[in-house]
Amino acid sequence: MILVLRPDATEPQIEHIIQRIGELGFTPHVSRGEQRTIVGVIGDERKPQAENFSAIPGVEQVLRVLKPFKLASREFRKEDSVVTVGKVRIGGGHLAMIAGPCAVESLEGLDTIAGHVKKAGANILRGGAFKPRTSPYAFQGMGEDGLKILRDVGDKHDMPVVTEVMDPRQVPLVEQWADMFQVGARNMQNFDLLKEIGQTRKPVLLKRGMSATVKDLLMSAEYVLAGGNQQVVLCERGVRSFEDSTRNMLDMSAVPNVKGQSHLPIIVDPSHATGRPDLIPSMAKASIAAGADGVHVEVHDCPEKAFSDGPQALLPPQFATLMDDIRKLAAVMNVDIDA
Ligand code: PEP
Ligand code: MN
Repeated sequence: MILVLRPDATEPQIEHIIQRIGELGFTPHVSRGEQRTIVGVIGDERKPQAENFSAIPGVEQVLRVLKPFKLASREFRKEDSVVTVGKVRIGGGHLAMIAGPCAVESLEGLDTIAGHVKKAGANILRGGAFKPRTSPYAFQGMGEDGLKILRDVGDKHDMPVVTEVMDPRQVPLVEQWADMFQVGARNMQNFDLLKEIGQTRKPVLLKRGMSATVKDLLMSAEYVLAGGNQQVVLCERGVRSFEDSTRNMLDMSAVPNVKGQSHLPIIVDPSHATGRPDLIPSMAKASIAAGADGVHVEVHDCPEKAFSDGPQALLPPQFATLMDDIRKLAAVMNVDIDA
């Protein structure tokens, strides 16, 4: 349920409203918009009568949110949310250009790739230290050593860093080294992981599960928001389908679909969606044209030597050309890209 407060609601009234919500056994989530303050009332809605809330001074309207996701919904927040990673804004007209190798492989290797993507205009560096691999015999990532390398290289190139966290027990460690958590497709419904991340105040890139609906994705975001962490960026990365000429099937309509239903930023990962460097640039550009708040692209200077996902990596010059095109598109779409 959502309480829309009167435009002239005073601070003591707002404090009182928050206190009453707690006393009635609910959790308040306050969103201060430009025009009005809105308070989300989260908990079992069968309990009290809506009238209990409409009688509290300062409350103008009580709205029941019919969607199963509440804090993630447009009803809760009309304006686009802006998530800030380091100095980089994502959402509300600001694009994230996340690039880097699939995995952190070595200090020198990551340093080289980071130099290329930074020069091309990427604003967030990616690299997995904990890798979810289909085979237990495949490279599983460098773990903590990889996190430290990512931090060092990110600092050297003045880029915030994002990296995957797979297990609730890894959250404190990844929180220490990274600027943004990545929850991968395989863990989108790892609810204990989402709850743990919800307790932090670090941004999270939440990727759509390979067989998850848009509603499932928004419900997973709700887990993080319900914990009090408002910094959620969604990521469309393709879903499983009968089509076998691409790695997954990119659901481009998820971008405007999510935007209609949620205030959260959504970016697109054309690398994992298509698995094909010949398709990635066009799908990245289509994402920006569709209104996405950025893209997430894997780049490697020597794909044939990559420890994971080499075949889908763009070469640095291909990425630089893509960035040139995206800058032109950004101007048309009236959005900007923080350095
Ligand atoms: C990745 O980003 O390297 C990754 C494993 O992505 P996804 O979880 O979307 O498969
Ligand atoms: Mn990958």
